[in-house]
Amino acid sequence: MPANGNDITSVVIVGGGTAGWMAAAALSKYLADGRRRFTLVESDAIGTVGVGEATIPPIKSFNQMLGIDENAFLRATRGTFKLGIEFRNWGQVGDRYFHPFGAYGQDLHGIAFHQLWLRERARSGAAAGAIGDYSMCTVAAMLGRAARPAPTARSLVSQLAYAYHFDAGLYATFLRTRAEEQGTVRREGTIARVHRDGESGDVTAVELADGSLVAGDLFIDCSGFRGLLIEETLGAGYHDWSHWLPMDRALAVPTANTGSPDPYTRSTAHGAGWQWRIPLQHRTGNGHVFSSSFMERDEATRILLANLEGEVLADPRELRFLTGTRAKTWHHNVIALGLASGFIEPLESTSIHLVQNGIQRLFALFPDKAISPVERDHFNEGMHAAYEDVRDFIILHYKATQRDDTPFWRYVRDMPVPDTLTRRMELWRLHGRVFRDDAELFALPSWVAVMLGQNLWPQRHDPIADTLDPERVAAHMAQMRADYRATAEALPTQEQFLRQAGAWA
Ligand code: FAD
Repeated sequence: MPANGNDITSVVIVGGGTAGWMAAAALSKYLADGRRRFTLVESDAIGTVGVGEATIPPIKSFNQMLGIDENAFLRATRGTFKLGIEFRNWGQVGDRYFHPFGAYGQDLHGIAFHQLWLRERARSGAAAGAIGDYSMCTVAAMLGRAARPAPTARSLVSQLAYAYHFDAGLYATFLRTRAEEQGTVRREGTIARVHRDGESGDVTAVELADGSLVAGDLFIDCSGFRGLLIEETLGAGYHDWSHWLPMDRALAVPTANTGSPDPYTRSTAHGAGWQWRIPLQHRTGNGHVFSSSFMERDEATRILLANLEGEVLADPRELRFLTGTRAKTWHHNVIALGLASGFIEPLESTSIHLVQNGIQRLFALFPDKAISPVERDHFNEGMHAAYEDVRDFIILHYKATQRDDTPFWRYVRDMPVPDTLTRRMELWRLHGRVFRDDAELFALPSWVAVMLGQNLWPQRHDPIADTLDPERVAAHMAQMRADYRATAEALPTQEQFLRQAGAWA
């Protein structure tokens, strides 16, 4: 291909956290053509956030796109399989439900399974079992079992869907090796100044503390919460969503494992937030996400330490954040990814996914030097919609609570929520229907899991479910339930599975 004077030939990635190395590994794999240089600048003195250990299933396609061998990745990052998230104390204190990655049951004659379950429950009460009894991921997770999905639909194991838990620092190191092998040049140093073109205002170079310059045509800002280029330099602006999601602090602490790692994340709600538990091969990550408007740090620390299993391996580390998204994630010749582009609390493990989403959008809209406003605006609209998608789903967990034991829970229960979510909840309340665009991240089972899990019961099931013979459906469901249980019981524990697969470090 002849060189085009308008082509971007130098890409500078600012930051070497998970976002920076994901971007470097992906861009240098697919956009290196011998003329284009990739440079990543990171500062050992500043360091990275270092948490971010739970993911959602699309990460598998990101790793596959990079040609990563799954067993090698799991060994290198001390990773485990994650089949979903267990929520405790969210609807009411004492409640438990599971948000599985896979589907519920099998649809019959095009009728969604949860509608059949709602009808059967209305007909026979507790005898219908919990909706989770009809989910391969839920049943396997609650037994501590894991496996790769079977390749044939004849086996119920084919219904397992999974993501990973992994050590975020080790993942960044793993990706760094690949990115450097693909030609990315790493520069260690703290950026002290940013140079801009006097006319266009575009960023032309970053200057390190030793005075050296790293120049580029396109800058990917992965500098974390501060947004060194996108915000501190260009002032892109921020949409603050903390009135809907008032969490603004987290305390993170690792503990030793107490047995085979559970194949799921646990989220336990407390008085003004919630606590995560993420089991890896070599340790368990824990953290308490809370709102400083409703709880003091000392109390949050006490609650965290009182609710840990296993030996505590370090002192709690505090992280601060403001929920929201950058008004423009692409501004001038700077594209922000990761924490520099925004942050929504990790309740559904979506931040790393939003990095992946941004990288995919960047591939689809990779610019020339003369950046087209049409491409840039399209990118910004898409990223904004992706953030809003996640936002609404997270808010649902708070809004759909019956808790009134603390001022925090009363606030989130009574707060007005975005119209998009209000409408979705109203549609659900009538006949248990979920309407969503194909581009949305969370599929039907995810909405069903959280709505039902938090006791948001529809007034009635979809009348179309009444077209099927109830006795036949009940018999079919009873068989299905027994089959899920028997299939899950025959699976290995997570540790056995990872060892047998050659994925245990
Ligand atoms: P950072 O890790 O902050 O990296 C920033 C980089 O920029 C660093 O390399 C730093 O050295 C560099 N830098 C900054 N300033 C300069 C400078 N002046 N000069 C040179 N370099 C500079 N995500 C999930 O998907 N799942 C989770 O379970 C999850 N849990 C989380 C829990 C908490 C409490 C928090 C806060 C986040 C969580 N996340 C989670 C988000 C996840 O951690 C981040 O999305 C991910 O780590 C990406 O971070 P980052 O690379 O954008 O930023």
